[in-house]
Amino acid sequence: MTPGMSIVAYLIAGVFFIRSLGGLSKQETAKNGNLFGVVGMVLAIVVTAVTWLQHGASVTAVAVLGGAIGVGAIVGASMARKVEMTGMPELVAILHSFVGLAAVLVGLSSYMGPQAHAAGAHTAAELHTARVVHQIELWIGIAVGALTFTGSVIAWAKLKGTLSGKPLLLPGRHVLNLLIVAGIVGLAVPFMAAEGSSGLVWVLAMTALAGVLGVHLVMAIGGADMPVVVSLLNSYSGWAAASAGFVLNNDLLIVTGALVGASGTILSIIMCRAMNRSILNVVFGGFGTGESKTSAAPVDGEVREIKADELAERLANAKSVIVVPGYGMAVARAQNSVNELCRTLRDRGVKVRFAIHPVAGRLPGHMNVLLAEAGVPYDIVLEMEEINHDFERTDVVLVIGANDIVNPAALDDPGSPIYGMPVLEVWKSAMVVVSKRGMAAGYAGIENPLFFHENCRMLFGDAKKSVDALVTAVRPKG
Ligand code: NDP
Repeated sequence: MTPGMSIVAYLIAGVFFIRSLGGLSKQETAKNGNLFGVVGMVLAIVVTAVTWLQHGASVTAVAVLGGAIGVGAIVGASMARKVEMTGMPELVAILHSFVGLAAVLVGLSSYMGPQAHAAGAHTAAELHTARVVHQIELWIGIAVGALTFTGSVIAWAKLKGTLSGKPLLLPGRHVLNLLIVAGIVGLAVPFMAAEGSSGLVWVLAMTALAGVLGVHLVMAIGGADMPVVVSLLNSYSGWAAASAGFVLNNDLLIVTGALVGASGTILSIIMCRAMNRSILNVVFGGFGTGESKTSAAPVDGEVREIKADELAERLANAKSVIVVPGYGMAVARAQNSVNELCRTLRDRGVKVRFAIHPVAGRLPGHMNVLLAEAGVPYDIVLEMEEINHDFERTDVVLVIGANDIVNPAALDDPGSPIYGMPVLEVWKSAMVVVSKRGMAAGYAGIENPLFFHENCRMLFGDAKKSVDALVTAVRPKG
């Protein structure tokens, strides 16, 4: 394969990755998007291996590469097969950590290995410039990689529940962050001056500092801000991969990393907008941190229960129903039953639509994926801004395992940790029914005054069992 051919092959793979991202942005095209990604990646791996062989890599080295890919593929496939939908956020977080770790290892091995960057340099000045550029690439790549690695491991532990979801707010944490960043920059001075690979000690010290920064940054974020952390780490993992591409002088890795980095950044901005927040505000503190000057208003009152039979009658006689799914629907795996209820009601002439909050569940798009898997038609699944004005014209809203995303305190109570986050205004409908097991709080750990509203009824029990009972009661007999 000539160098020209490998460049063209890399370009084609790059186009496949762009098509993949485009496809993944819509439910209807997501499967094709995945397929484009797989084809692009296979092409990239084959071209890289062939080019590597042509540059004198031994067959044994390529066999080791193949073996590593094989083992990785088996582990990845078995993890993907076993993972529950509710476990997806943790899986995504841990996969981000692998990208960060890979960037660190690539950087370290490049620093200690043969000085490939010197290949095109002819004069002493050119050699010096190539070395300086390479060292800067290494430094940035390892720093971003280490931060991504430790930050993602902490995010994984928080999402899994191994670590508390509450933010850790050390006194003077911003000063601490600044000192760490200063240390990362400062250590570059002796590193740049070190001959050969003798600056290893400085790289390792910087790696440790960047790792601590990753831990500290993510430990300080929690509660309702976690969605943005997941998308930010996604973006960091892309930039880490791009910097590994610079270190390895691999154009495709640079392009792919930049695509992931940029799309992660865009997703973070979208999530921040949806939550009415700025990225800096999320990263450097505030939301869900209990830092508000006033405390949340006490929540109490009468809880009114409803039984499945009574609700079924209200649903069957309604003109318009909106279903609001949340994390509890995923836990209960109730999506198929919810689809069945939706079909039965539509067959009876009831207008049924779904309202999706951007941070519902535990992963961007979590609810959309579950509803698509169950076969709910896409055209009745609406985003928050498309449907939030329709609640006042709705007879019954059925909230299934959602809590934070329908909490009116976000709009009414300046003391609430989620004050300012747009929520689905379900209480404006004629009747809102919340299906959940008890009175427990949601992910942000705060009480929900909705449950005490006069027009709110609680349908207690596991969401799947409750919805199955509704389907049986709504379905025409005989
Ligand atoms: P919440 O976590 O606010 O609430 C879920 C509710 O589901 C709980 O109150 C729980 O109450 C109920 N529940 C749990 N299991 C069941 C079950 N088997 N049957 C019925 N109900 C059940 O979920 P929301 O979707 O409303 O909000 C998402 C939250 O997660 C937000 O705070 C968001 O910021 C955060 N988050 C979102 C991420 C994302 O990317 N989307 C990522 C990380 C965090 P009970 O125990 O009483 O049944």
